[in-house]
Amino acid sequence: MLDPEIAGRVIAAVNERFDEQLAWTAELVRRPSLRTGEAGAQDLIEEALTGAGLDIDRWAIDSPELRAHQGYGPTTVDPAALENVVGTWHPPVERGRSLILNGHVDVVPTGPEEYWSRSPWDASVVDGWLYGRGSADMKAGIGANLFALTALRTAELRPTGRIHVQSVVEEECTGNGSLAALLRGYTADACVIPEPEDDKLVRANVGVLWFDVTVRGVPAHLRVMDTGQNAIDAAYTVMNDLRGLEAEWNRRKDRHRYFEDTEHPINFNFGVINGGDWPSSVPAQCTFTVRAAFYPGISAADAWAEIQETLAKSAARFDLPDAVVATPSGFFAEGYVLEEGSDAEAVLARSHERVFGSELESFTTPGYLDGRVFTLYGNMPCLVYGPVSEAIHGIDERVEVESIRRITTAIALFTAEWCGVEPQP
Ligand SMILES: [Zn+2]
Repeated sequence: MLDPEIAGRVIAAVNERFDEQLAWTAELVRRPSLRTGEAGAQDLIEEALTGAGLDIDRWAIDSPELRAHQGYGPTTVDPAALENVVGTWHPPVERGRSLILNGHVDVVPTGPEEYWSRSPWDASVVDGWLYGRGSADMKAGIGANLFALTALRTAELRPTGRIHVQSVVEEECTGNGSLAALLRGYTADACVIPEPEDDKLVRANVGVLWFDVTVRGVPAHLRVMDTGQNAIDAAYTVMNDLRGLEAEWNRRKDRHRYFEDTEHPINFNFGVINGGDWPSSVPAQCTFTVRAAFYPGISAADAWAEIQETLAKSAARFDLPDAVVATPSGFFAEGYVLEEGSDAEAVLARSHERVFGSELESFTTPGYLDGRVFTLYGNMPCLVYGPVSEAIHGIDERVEVESIRRITTAIALFTAEWCGVEPQP
């Protein structure tokens, strides 16, 4: 248990630095970090980690080892543009437990900017919410990790365990950033990821696959339309077959611990589509990209095999060679369950209770999380726990300011108790 006097100093220190934290987080939101464009945001983070007295490691994440890993997501971009940043605190004598504080710097596209109330990169605070693409998912969390450590320093304490603060790329598309950090040798006794989880702890989440589907047709002039085969019409049929598989997987939820009470745990999304080249020609081709979820405990390879079976049945409806061809194009990632009863969870529960005055709740989420990397391949408890948000991946994404303060305080208290602290000489 953390000494109450020390806890009080840590809480005061978070509050003392909170305005600075909010301003820093807003500056981070103002640096767009869309896929392959993360460098400017990583520069700001690297500078802050350096200022916090950490040793910096920044590298392009590509490696043969990464590409060979079972959790690797096939990438469709130039990996040379993808850089992780890790800042490490080495205590003079390592006596406490070690910790990874992880966050992803990449953000998803904004959608039509004219739908937003203000620029997605404006980072205004309005009525207690910080707005902007990535504000909640998850630049507020990166700020929480950084300023939790800053608070310990401000309270004239230093951790007695090793700490790695990670700012990774690729969380929104492959999960390769956190995987690359693990393969580079970063392990610890526990990991915290402050994703926007409404002040709760993630107990279980789904695995995710991304794949491209190319549907073939036969082009023809419209005066002889019946001699053609419309690839866009055919794509609807294939999508409908995939919706059938989605429904079947949702019916199986009773077989999967923690998913029984989730309304619709398995979501397939047709996220991108392209087809045809002329309104008066029967289209020869339609391609679309799918995000599909599956339950933890099922390997990505097995889920993919079942999807391919469904697509083979679709293809058999059309009398054409290569009528439906699918290839993985991103996430190839299993889901995971955070096993109950870990010491790390107990320490987080105490820290949460001290700040929130209520019990830490856990829940099941039907979204992808990098937590799978640490849990499945790093054999460490990973606590995905973070602030209250609205409209992540949507329009006018925002994160509640007071929630950031409380989550930062809980992470600072967690770090102090988990790693141990001693007076700063
Ligand atoms: Zn996220």
